[in-house]
Amino acid sequence: MSGHDPFQRVTAIVDLGNVERNCVTLAAKLAPGTELCAVVKADGYGHGMGECADAALRGGASRLAVATATEAFELRERVGAEVPIFVMGALTGAELDVALQARAELTVWRTEFFEALAERAGLFGFRPRLHVKYDTGMGRLGDREPAAIARLADAAAADERVELAGVWTHFATADEDDDTFLREQLDRFREVALPIAERHPEITLHAANSAATLRGREFHFGMVRCGVAIYGLDPFGRDAAAQGLEPALALHTYVADVKRIHAGESVGYGRSWRAPADTWVGVLPVGYGDGYRRGLSNVAEVAIDGMRRPLVGTVSMDNVTVDLGPETDIAPGQPAVLVGEQGDARVDAELLAERLGTINYEITTGLTRRVPRAYRT
Ligand SMILES: *Cc1c(COP(=O)(O)O)cnc(C)c1O
Repeated sequence: MSGHDPFQRVTAIVDLGNVERNCVTLAAKLAPGTELCAVVKADGYGHGMGECADAALRGGASRLAVATATEAFELRERVGAEVPIFVMGALTGAELDVALQARAELTVWRTEFFEALAERAGLFGFRPRLHVKYDTGMGRLGDREPAAIARLADAAAADERVELAGVWTHFATADEDDDTFLREQLDRFREVALPIAERHPEITLHAANSAATLRGREFHFGMVRCGVAIYGLDPFGRDAAAQGLEPALALHTYVADVKRIHAGESVGYGRSWRAPADTWVGVLPVGYGDGYRRGLSNVAEVAIDGMRRPLVGTVSMDNVTVDLGPETDIAPGQPAVLVGEQGDARVDAELLAERLGTINYEITTGLTRRVPRAYRT
């Protein structure tokens, strides 16, 4: 589908050409031989998992990563048998079977899980490729003990039932200005992973998310795992354009009604905003039921008629209100842009995130199923 009905209530317009170009841009930063793994978990950060996976592969990604077994299963149906799919998350016994059915590459760190997996693999008639996860300081999944990592990697390499595919870690602060902890994690990873790679030269080491990928080649190793950047969102929460990235998602709606509000009158639940002077208010039929968060009440901006205008009043489930000013030509039916640009006016996911006290990731990932996605190529 290309384009969209301008009178649709709300639409997330996803430019797959931008996803493809962002991957080309990221791939160009990598050392020769380093693979780009496109992270398409959580429905492609709200952009659509399958569509974005296809676009990323066109743009030079050679691998895909997801968080869950179900995501791997759905993705496998979409992209065919050849593309490597890596499940980064922890798996229950039942999820392990789903992931194996999807022929996904899996992460391991606990010996018990490794044993169960190796045994289970026999039933599926192939040797699953395993990535041993070293927790260098994120404090989530992975083993913190260097000796345990080396033992597990060697055990996986020696086991006929599985294949050792990689050793990996994840950075906690790659998006922060201060790189002290990032470098500590990098040093820990190198110390443990490089000797393992010497014993098993066919494996892939990987550590970098989008932020670390953009920071420099010393973080790249054999593969980088880029999520947010492939969607044209800035991992540093600033300006994606400064990184050569183009936002892939725009959120469009329209003005359903325009009404006169006199000084002292209020709009919305709880009367959280009162007009300081006579003004016109536009009503847009979108709200937190669409993932346009209630925390944006009285702090967001919306582009209408080529200008950024203040959202006023409380965001409700299905409506928001915007101050159009004391004089306006804006009429019902006119388009409004919640995320994206309109003329010279721009409202980035980064701006909304900053106003909400969150990160741009949550702006797109939080869009609900009620918002139709329209794809452009
Ligand atoms: C989500 C995720 C990524 C991608 O992170 P971005 O910041 O979106 O690039 C990489 N690695 C792991 C383990 C993840 O969970």
